[in-house]
Amino acid sequence: MSHDFEVAVVGAGVIGLAVAAELAGAGRDVCVIERHAAIGQETSSRNSEVIHSGIYYQPESLKAQLCVEGKRLLYDLCAARGLPHRRTGKLIVAADEREAGSLETLAANGRRNGLDDLVLMTRAELAVMEPRVRGVAALWSPSTGILSAHDFMRDLAGRAREKGAAFLFNADVVGLEPAAAGWRVAVREGGALQDLRARHAVNSAGLRSDAVAALAGVDVKEAGYTLRFNKGEYFRLRRRPETTVEHLIYPVPYDEGGWLGVHITVDLQGDVKLGPSAFDVDELDYSVDPAHAEEFHAAGRRYLPDLRLEDIQADMAGIRPKLGPRGDGGFHDFIIREESERGLPGLVNLVGIESPGLTAALAIAVYVRSLLD
Ligand SMILES: Cc1cc2nc3c(=O)[nH]c(=O)nc-3n(C[C@H](O)[C@H](O)[C@H](O)COP(=O)(O)OP(=O)(O)OC[C@H]3O[C@@H](n4cnc5c(N)ncnc54)[C@H](O)[C@@H]3O)c2cc1C
Repeated sequence: MSHDFEVAVVGAGVIGLAVAAELAGAGRDVCVIERHAAIGQETSSRNSEVIHSGIYYQPESLKAQLCVEGKRLLYDLCAARGLPHRRTGKLIVAADEREAGSLETLAANGRRNGLDDLVLMTRAELAVMEPRVRGVAALWSPSTGILSAHDFMRDLAGRAREKGAAFLFNADVVGLEPAAAGWRVAVREGGALQDLRARHAVNSAGLRSDAVAALAGVDVKEAGYTLRFNKGEYFRLRRRPETTVEHLIYPVPYDEGGWLGVHITVDLQGDVKLGPSAFDVDELDYSVDPAHAEEFHAAGRRYLPDLRLEDIQADMAGIRPKLGPRGDGGFHDFIIREESERGLPGLVNLVGIESPGLTAALAIAVYVRSLLD
């Protein structure tokens, strides 16, 4: 059987859903194709659920621009649609004087990215905000917050559907070929193969977006689209006064590659988590190794001196779609490209959409629409 859609969106994570809601809202005829049985089964439901402010990213990069704009759009959407979220604010805490020097540099970077609300704090000011947190100085980012990623995705899917988008679940995209009027998308549903025809194809396949780009004929190695899997584990803290914090607590980041270091997050239920760590893996295995508890304990104790090993228990893990070779700590921007220059008009690839992809999703969707327009 053959269908015709204007846009085929591969993947129903937060990016595919935001793109579908944006395009369907603009009157486009959209079909979302997802290999799992439901939305948001991979990275979009395995993350810190933080609305990032945009402090860290290289000025002018897509990450910086789309994070800051996405944050604005996301807070507006949460308010307009009553989606669960909280503007918690975040403290980047310097554990010693050497780290304190880096806070100035971070603040300057954030200001270049358009943040005009960052505040450098002394040890005494930090102690007033978070009496249990140890540190010599801090950078306060009031616009950072948390949200429920699931409610956000449900809302996006609902809006896309209301505007006429179709969804295919348990449907694996196994072929993507240029065809006369756009793209032929080969989809395997159970044992059956079917072809869909679409004028445009949007590849928002997350951890497999390099593989989907390869299906479309992109030489991913030459294009620099090759992804590696980088795992982040979380440990949950037992609730007691010594482990209770009100704000998100982050260390001074260790590398340019986007790893912010093991931080302390609070979720909408008030639970406190440590994580995520960062190490390369070969497989998509989401188990958490309880043997890593001591590492997390040590990282957590830098800020919460009264944290006990028995306070922490294995929670969950997520996997980042990372650009660059193993062990690479350099900065890689989001790749969001319409591929006419490669002789593949009508194809938009989104590759390496790691953090702050959740925050940036709405702005990424607007950007993708502009590429298709
Ligand atoms: C540990 C961790 C913490 C993070 N914390 C934050 C944070 O606090 N704030 C923030 O803003 N961002 C955060 N992020 C980043 C954010 O989670 C991601 O950028 C975002 O979820 C990416 O969404 P996506 O839709 O691109 O990918 P995914 O959610 O992985 O969705 C891709 C979808 O494509 C589908 N798919 C793949 N191949 C095919 C195919 N061939 N056919 C059909 N379907 C296919 C998959 O099944 C999947 O559902 C974090 C990420 C990690 C890993």
